[in-house]
Amino acid sequence: MKLLFERSQPGRGQSLIPPCDVPACDFDPSLLRAGAPKLPEISEVDLGRHYTELAKQTHGVNDGFYPLGSCTMKYNPRINEEMAALPGFAGIHPLQGEDTVQGCLEALSTLEKLLCEITGMDGMSFQPAAGAHGEYTGLLLIRRYHQSRGDAARTKIIVPDSAHGTNPASASMAGFSVVSIPSNAQGGVDLDALRAAAGPDTAGLMLTNPNTVGLFDPNILEITDIVHKAGGLCYYDGANLNAIMGHVRPGDMGFDCVHLNLHKTFSTPHGGGGPGSGPVGCKAFLEPFLPAPRVCEKDGVYGLFTPEHTMGKVRSFYGNFLVAVRALTYILILGREGIPEASTGAVLNANYLMHRLKGAYDMSYDTVCMHEFVMTLERLKRETGVSAMDVAKRLLDFGMHPPTMYFPLIVHEALMVEPTETESRETLDEAADVFLRILEEAKADPQSLHAAPHSCPIGRPDEVGAARNPVLRYEWP
Ligand SMILES: *Cc1c(COP(=O)(O)O)cnc(C)c1O
Repeated sequence: MKLLFERSQPGRGQSLIPPCDVPACDFDPSLLRAGAPKLPEISEVDLGRHYTELAKQTHGVNDGFYPLGSCTMKYNPRINEEMAALPGFAGIHPLQGEDTVQGCLEALSTLEKLLCEITGMDGMSFQPAAGAHGEYTGLLLIRRYHQSRGDAARTKIIVPDSAHGTNPASASMAGFSVVSIPSNAQGGVDLDALRAAAGPDTAGLMLTNPNTVGLFDPNILEITDIVHKAGGLCYYDGANLNAIMGHVRPGDMGFDCVHLNLHKTFSTPHGGGGPGSGPVGCKAFLEPFLPAPRVCEKDGVYGLFTPEHTMGKVRSFYGNFLVAVRALTYILILGREGIPEASTGAVLNANYLMHRLKGAYDMSYDTVCMHEFVMTLERLKRETGVSAMDVAKRLLDFGMHPPTMYFPLIVHEALMVEPTETESRETLDEAADVFLRILEEAKADPQSLHAAPHSCPIGRPDEVGAARNPVLRYEWP
């Protein structure tokens, strides 16, 4: 497919930039470009066709099943977009006076109350722009808390080996060293290892529950208790909230702070790189350290305030406000009954698909799962030479997005499947049939699977090369 630059013809298309209606200002000449930018020149119809062609080459929730584990690729209701596009939300400027954005502040305040109720927290900041950014912010909260008590010895964060890769990365970015502890045979936290790791140098524990193999840890109260008794705090990675929302609350499991992925559980489109939102909630004793500004309300009038011992800003203004509007819309439409129903559906769908595949595919843990399950294709690889990568690639030929591959790291030849609640039984059955058919193919003709996919514009890119040496810039001949 040709690039826009390669389609460019001098004089084609037109400039749609209106004449300048504000006074020109003087720049330092060193900041000005020497010549006009070399942009592609293309007519509107060719431009439209270019993007339509690109769209046809990609895969989204509107194209088909998208069971990418740990990513919660649920359907995002269109009404969210309508609400986020309302001029009163979309047309504001963050430097406007508080009295002119009362509705927007009320929306943030309402969402904060609802999410605090869902998570069992007391206050929340919407500044973090993604899950990992929320983790980082939550860890700064923990840091500030220990500092405020003059406890400088707490330099370590305990992270189970099943954790999402962002957890240890965020902990080290926030200036902690990471202590990794192993999982037990049931896929949960090894309590003895946790007891051995927790001590006067423990700043806290980072945990997601259900964890990345899709299992709810039955020892959760004991886990958070061990950390608290050692003087540490407990951080909940809420990216997997889709499994539990409306049923159990991190605050009741003993967690002191959480982040949520509004762009996963609360239905903002994601996967293309943003914008996201990873709000951080905490118990009351951590609220003074939250980022500024926060929204407050007095006698029906909304305003902004700076928490007493704030960590400052982790992002500009209030974060990605329109993602918050989408989440608010989603929650208000589902309501008190719909929220738990959504997670019930997510768990039911995952178990249904797991049971249809069980026996044919090996499950990493043979038990009831939460919102996702992990298969291990180790035996298949040993017997036929067909890897998790081969199976994932072959799924593309059937119009299905592959599950998450080779994650979590503790499971070999892993495929991690998260169907979400928005898929019908028919879709799940079709997906199961495809998975089972590929297994037959692996036995009959393993060679052809090594070459899959057979129907996509790009089959097996050099992934390391693409990540390390991406070509992001067009060089005019
Ligand atoms: C997705 C995810 C994250 C990171 O969220 P981003 O918005 O991608 O930064 C962290 N933890 C878990 C368990 C996740 O699934």
